[in-house]
Amino acid sequence: MGQKFYLETFGCQMNVVDSEQIAALLADLGFCAASSAEEADLIILNTCSIREKAERKVVGHLWRFKPLKEANPELVIAVGGCVAQQEGERLLQRLPHVDLVFGTHNIHRLPELLRRVRRQRERIAEVAFLDRETRLALFPERRSTGEVVRYVTVMQGCDNFCTYCVVPHVRGREISRPSGAVLAEVGRLVGSGVREVTLIGQNVNSYGGNTPGELSFAELLAAVHDIPALERVRFVTSHPKDISQRLIDCYATLPRLCRHIHLPLQSGSDRVLREMRRGYTAADYLDKVARLRSACPEIRFTSDIIVGFPGETEADFLDTLAVVQEVGYADIYTFLYSPRPGTQAPLRSDGLSPEVQQERFDRLLELQERIGPAIWRQDVGRTLPLLVEGESRQGGGQLFGRTTWGRIVNFAGGRELIGQVIPVTITASYRNSQLGEYWESNASVRCYGQG
Ligand code: SF4
Repeated sequence: MGQKFYLETFGCQMNVVDSEQIAALLADLGFCAASSAEEADLIILNTCSIREKAERKVVGHLWRFKPLKEANPELVIAVGGCVAQQEGERLLQRLPHVDLVFGTHNIHRLPELLRRVRRQRERIAEVAFLDRETRLALFPERRSTGEVVRYVTVMQGCDNFCTYCVVPHVRGREISRPSGAVLAEVGRLVGSGVREVTLIGQNVNSYGGNTPGELSFAELLAAVHDIPALERVRFVTSHPKDISQRLIDCYATLPRLCRHIHLPLQSGSDRVLREMRRGYTAADYLDKVARLRSACPEIRFTSDIIVGFPGETEADFLDTLAVVQEVGYADIYTFLYSPRPGTQAPLRSDGLSPEVQQERFDRLLELQERIGPAIWRQDVGRTLPLLVEGESRQGGGQLFGRTTWGRIVNFAGGRELIGQVIPVTITASYRNSQLGEYWESNASVRCYGQG
């Protein structure tokens, strides 16, 4: 019997991609995936430290594996990702049953590190950052997994150092992957059946900025868009200050670019935005929203918002509510501010009480509850193009796909539809998904919106 690994992933798309790389390295070592931690010879947690709560969750999770290690001393427990990068050796001290801590720049070394843990019974923390050239040379190539939609990494790291954010501290400085490598990878993925790619990075629209002679993000997006047989392209995450007019124009000129943009606002108060070091004002942000809407009237916006940044006043918070109202987000991801190690904001002494934070958080959610669901309900009765991704978690022989706005739609249909863009009539809209109906005759129905 071969060895089995159990891998759990927390956090953002970057961690999802890193986990794919980890799984591919383990497959090369002869491991296969276990369905539970109990049956694994190797447990890996790929972790997120963007919020204090996420980090606490990871540590709590790791304690749950202690009895498994006591029952089976040969079991190897490893921690990767942002908590590993941030905590390093301290994790080994806090968690005596953990064998290996590997940082965000050390995934490629996993085979060698595992060998050392097993053969030499070492406990290892490896969290050194790599230099730019080495990182560029080590950009992992994605392998085909038979899926219809895939993430493609175009850049890593961030140079912005927003005062609340741990990313530059745990992911390192910004590097852009050569455009030739990105295009070759998308071409290979499309050749293996992928129909939609999402270009990912911490700040994708600053792509190429610190690499003389490289394409801009708008140029890269257009080049990816033009790869034959690719049905759709998306990107995430964008920084509002780096949204160029050329990128805005892409929404008017690239029909296969999905009609959605995730544009983190963080705060609607100019004073708070300055303290966060975001590099834009609420007016700048709203101007970009207006220009995007002018280029593409059907575009939908989603956003991240932090509630209770130190020193946030009621007036600041009302400014945030005003922007949320004005933009009309389809969805927002709201976070209570939590201080992160190494960032500048925690050094301030004017933090808000948990009660004030929570009260504002609830008011923001209440406002969004009036805005978001009404936007999704507009789809009911429309026939929309859906890229069918696979079998639905709802079971019952249902399939699922996504609209151009990224909404999951469950519907009844045959497996031969997977990988196709088909017209589906939306019949109901729920909190996180929609229900649709597909008839073959729909194929001739004119769809609303883009593919
Ligand atoms: S742009 Fe700001 S919030 Fe986004 S990853 Fe960089 S530092 Fe963090």
